[in-house]
Amino acid sequence: MAVTGVLRPGHIVLRVLDLDEAIRHYTHVIGLFETGRDEQGRVFFKAWDENDHHSVVLREADSAGMDYFGWKVDSEKTLDELAAKLEASPLARDTLWLAPGEHLATGRRFQFTIPTGHRFELYATKEALGCMTGYENPDPWPDGLRGMAPSRFDHALLYGRDIDSTLELFRDILGFDLTERVVGPDGEFLIGIFLACSNKAHDVAFIRSEQDDRLHHASFILGGWHEVLQAADIISKRNVSLDIGPTRHGITRGETIYFFDPSGNRNEVFAGGYIWYPDRPTITWHDREIGRAIFYHDRKLNEAFLNVTT
Ligand code: FE
Repeated sequence: MAVTGVLRPGHIVLRVLDLDEAIRHYTHVIGLFETGRDEQGRVFFKAWDENDHHSVVLREADSAGMDYFGWKVDSEKTLDELAAKLEASPLARDTLWLAPGEHLATGRRFQFTIPTGHRFELYATKEALGCMTGYENPDPWPDGLRGMAPSRFDHALLYGRDIDSTLELFRDILGFDLTERVVGPDGEFLIGIFLACSNKAHDVAFIRSEQDDRLHHASFILGGWHEVLQAADIISKRNVSLDIGPTRHGITRGETIYFFDPSGNRNEVFAGGYIWYPDRPTITWHDREIGRAIFYHDRKLNEAFLNVTT
């Protein structure tokens, strides 16, 4: 097993203003599948190609945004080791163990707050429901797909103040690589950091901002550019609030479209990117090229895209 330690983004827990509207959006527009509801009223979903019980959790609340972001690690032993390191580090605040079953179908979880104010958690065990094509002589995609039908939840982009310490935590404690960075005029000051625990162009990213604990978007992966175009069709067909796209990012090379869920949380579906290996140099984007870095075709910034967060 070459990918060890932290394996991947496991689940994102989103606050929504109207649960029924949100369920319709995540089910019929994005095309996730509901896998359960708990006594707190939280609703759990997975994408068609995911093995584990859930990757998206919705909770009704008075404000939109992200409650926390969960990461699957390779074993209970790794969970204990990383929890001990985080407990000993000033970079992780308000550490907390949660009992097995607090999330449906999930083992014990270790929660902590990172320097940008976001709540993260690690876990090693989650019940496998299996992907919808099965694992013996599978078809390339299952019957019964609807909406944009991403194969999985992929990453989130988060906004916060102290991305320097956040980089330190992810790189030095959790073992992530810095795949890309956006720097200021001095070539050092970090404006954005793109981090991978696997061989993707990113598993999580942070942009420096005045406000802590903000969600820019939660992102799901599609099979290719044509599916991004079809996602754009679905956005019009279902009168979904479009943000920007379809277009391409310079950063990560992703082919992308952004839109909003009914509560104002930004979603992305995207395709493409590149394969990251740990011996590949970090890509640097200079702030003078920020337009091309974010929207490779328009080559200019979009204020609403940059400044609207939940
Ligand atoms: Fe993204």
